[in-house]
Amino acid sequence: MPPTPAVEAERLHKRYRATVAVDDISLTVGTGEIFGVLGRNGAGKTTTVELIAGVRRPDRGTVRVLGLDVRRDRARLRQVLGVQLQDATLHGALTVTELVRLYATFYRDPAPAGELIESVGLTASGRTRFENLSGGQQQRLSIALALIGRPRVVILDELTTGLDPEARRQMWATVERLRDTGVTILLVSHAMEEVERLCDRVALLDAGRVVALDSPEGLIEQAGFVQRVTFRAATPVPEGLLEGLGEVERVRADGGRVVVEGRGDLLQAVSVALVRAGVVATETRSEQARLDDAFLALTGRRLDPEEETR
Ligand code: ATP
Repeated sequence: MPPTPAVEAERLHKRYRATVAVDDISLTVGTGEIFGVLGRNGAGKTTTVELIAGVRRPDRGTVRVLGLDVRRDRARLRQVLGVQLQDATLHGALTVTELVRLYATFYRDPAPAGELIESVGLTASGRTRFENLSGGQQQRLSIALALIGRPRVVILDELTTGLDPEARRQMWATVERLRDTGVTILLVSHAMEEVERLCDRVALLDAGRVVALDSPEGLIEQAGFVQRVTFRAATPVPEGLLEGLGEVERVRADGGRVVVEGRGDLLQAVSVALVRAGVVATETRSEQARLDDAFLALTGRRLDPEEETR
């Protein structure tokens, strides 16, 4: 018999009045995977993981976590699932250490409080009240609390939002250590870099639906190109010059820049062709396709609305 998946969600559907937040989403997450749920604001990411965590009731569909029905087997689920959701409200007058110790009493075999506080970088704030922590520190505490029961499956919603780059790297290392101990992690994010670095597989969500599900590399392949070269041409580029190259898939103008997308050694091919044609190119840049490019190819929109005009 194949092993029980860590998460098995089938045809989940959730509507809030006129808004269909989750529109028939099915996902299977294997044991030990870091599985990303990526999408723009409002795509339905949080609602999806709230349904998976059993904290919201779907209109239709079923969820099993390690074989447990999340609505019916709640007591057993608590012992194996750790959840960090956005905007956790905790008792403001309690300190970091007091909150961690309090949560530890909910579990049979809790993780040692000191080690956990250390792993999220809060040792120096152990005696600080929750209400006096910065947003990033509150975020880190909520992650520690999600891990206190030594869960087998962890849901982390916007793991590093509001954290500075150093704290973000620490948090990524914490997640990688967890994965190394065999814990399954469901990671909600709209940070591409985080998902590309951490996730084994990613579900791209748009308007409540899974528009693609693959490894980050597999998704990037769906962008239809691998490399992008951009430059400014001081003299006109002869028509068809770049389009005729084997490495080139698309050429377009973007403001004053020429954007060339393709595969292989694109930069070399484009540079040689321009030199041969006597075109002077400046501000030449070369970059790899990213998840955002795949998202654009699949949905016609960018993941990060601020880059919509790029
Ligand atoms: P974000 O990245 O902003 O957290 P998200 O991808 O997590 O977004 P959801 O929070 O799941 O998306 O929201 C999906 C849709 O459902 C949005 O249109 C949102 O406005 C709506 N929605 C979410 N929660 C509620 C609620 N409690 N009542 C009514 N509408 C809701």
